[in-house]
Amino acid sequence: MDPSRPRRRGSLFEDFALRKRVRTSDRRGNRQAVKRETVLIIEDEEDILEVMTYNLVKNGYRVLAASDGEEGLKRAKTEVPDALLLDLMLPGVGGLDVCRALKQDPRTQTIPILMVTARAEEADIVVGLELGADDYITKPFSPRVLVARLRAVLRRHSQPPESPGATVRVHDLVIHPGRREVTLGGRPIPLTFTEFSLLHLLARKPGWVFTRGQIVDAIRGEDYPVTDRSVDVHVTGLRRKLGAGAQWIETVRGVGYRLKE
Ligand code: CA
Repeated sequence: MDPSRPRRRGSLFEDFALRKRVRTSDRRGNRQAVKRETVLIIEDEEDILEVMTYNLVKNGYRVLAASDGEEGLKRAKTEVPDALLLDLMLPGVGGLDVCRALKQDPRTQTIPILMVTARAEEADIVVGLELGADDYITKPFSPRVLVARLRAVLRRHSQPPESPGATVRVHDLVIHPGRREVTLGGRPIPLTFTEFSLLHLLARKPGWVFTRGQIVDAIRGEDYPVTDRSVDVHVTGLRRKLGAGAQWIETVRGVGYRLKE
């Protein structure tokens, strides 16, 4: 047997692909045609690209790759992948510009984007999220976390958006938007108008990171003016009222807030 690395890797990928197919057979054993999801990776660091590709293929994804922003944009527009892993620090056209361009194009604006960033790029993460990127992961990351985050982003995109009036149940919280009531373990929690709006926003999308700017935009236009800084004050108030449930509202340092998934 040829001991070369690509060959060994190739057979490993085939094994995984086979197992996936077996799992998706129906009761009579007929194989169902399951479309593999395609992920485009835009990353200029070869080592990272290789690790990402290996782990994504192992998990059943079809992978396309581009090593700079220009090529990445071109591939995204021609291939329209199911998701995009986007490095922000790219030579030439940067990741944020790629994100902006894709979100402005009707053909590509719904492609979920998971940004891949260095820890020091907090300001860029905020900009990216506000441009419409779905989530981010900081380098160095574990392959397991990468795949979990990608899966979460794809899952959220495949779910139909919940109607804003629907009752939200998450952890021990039940949120009734119509009545603007919240109960925790069956016990009513009195919230201010803004605290309620904030909790409802986060709870409708557990796991999503909201920047302060996005929070302000979402709850603006109601009775009380909300600014970037006052978001923190409202979060503090909300946490105090939630007591033991305060831990569900996570601070994403330098970026914003999210409700624990
Ligand atoms: Ca880079």
